[in-house]
Amino acid sequence: MEKTVDAFSMTLEQWQDMAVGVWKEPRFRADQVCSWIYGKKVFDPSLMSNLPKTLRERMCGLIRPPAQITETVSRDREARKYLWEMADGKRVESVLLDHGEHTTACVSTQVGCPLACAFCATGQSGYERDLTAGEIVAQFIAVEHRLNKDVNNLVFMGMGEPLLNEANLFKSIRILSGVGTRGLGARHITVSTAGIADGIRDLADFEVPVRLSVSLHAPNDALRNRLMPLNRRIPLATLVDSMRHYKKRTGERITIEYVLIEKVNDDPQLAFEMAALLDGLGVYVNLIPYNTSAAAPSGAAGAFRRPSDGRIKAFCAALSELSIEFEIRRSKGADIAAACGQLKSRNS
Ligand code: SAH
Repeated sequence: MEKTVDAFSMTLEQWQDMAVGVWKEPRFRADQVCSWIYGKKVFDPSLMSNLPKTLRERMCGLIRPPAQITETVSRDREARKYLWEMADGKRVESVLLDHGEHTTACVSTQVGCPLACAFCATGQSGYERDLTAGEIVAQFIAVEHRLNKDVNNLVFMGMGEPLLNEANLFKSIRILSGVGTRGLGARHITVSTAGIADGIRDLADFEVPVRLSVSLHAPNDALRNRLMPLNRRIPLATLVDSMRHYKKRTGERITIEYVLIEKVNDDPQLAFEMAALLDGLGVYVNLIPYNTSAAAPSGAAGAFRRPSDGRIKAFCAALSELSIEFEIRRSKGADIAAACGQLKSRNS
């Protein structure tokens, strides 16, 4: 029976239930197993030397990390992209960003994405399915296993919309932050959303105080409808309401992701509109100059370009004038299609 469970989707309490109820072993066996998986990144039970031999045999084949298909390293060695294959053959990518003293893993929550934002490569390939909690957890732990060291930060900014796979997302966060499992600090975990307002409200009530990042990209509905079809269903007024609720409830500063696309959303006037829209929220803005992607279709998205440095500067000047804190995200991994919006399911 153990062979049918998804081991990475189990909380410490579930491991304990299995230890006591199924294995007829003491509860602390669960702690031992979790410290092998989450501490030492050892997945092969035969190597778990402090477990009784019979238990090791019984656990054979229980813990199955996704198969690594490829690992691609950027020229500057600061970004690594992993392509994993799940048990049903579906593939997703994760990215590891190395900032020197700290590292960040960017993991996927869905195979493909249903949102089809005009500028994003992931949406072009359509949506296939949600990842399970275990498949989300396993990406992070498998990256650590590959690197042979702990990763400090986790961002849900890979393929898919995290808040459209909320139950599995929340469960994966419980496991990765849980003391006794991976124990990653909540402050080191960021959920990014294209604007699922109900999900943002749920996140405000979620017991693990993770950080929130909102992919805004446009400060008015006319422009946002064009770039992000989701906005037709969840317009800015609804989105911003949920952000105000989150801010009030948690006191946490929200990060805004804003991909700068030449002559589409880089007019400094839009910075003023954004300031008015988000007035009083005290956001932090991450500007991401548009990453050209091989997967972008030749139609509308094909015309998208990274703004000139002069235009980026002008947008920044407007934000400074408005006293909005921001940074320009230096794009890592663009040469291996590992940068924002470049992840896809296929290895092509
Ligand atoms: N669906 C979630 C999680 C994906 S995060 C969300 O939208 O937030 C991936 C980030 O990269 C998002 O902010 C997305 O808008 C941005 N992005 C997508 N395509 C991009 C591109 N070509 N260049 C730069 N950023 C892009």
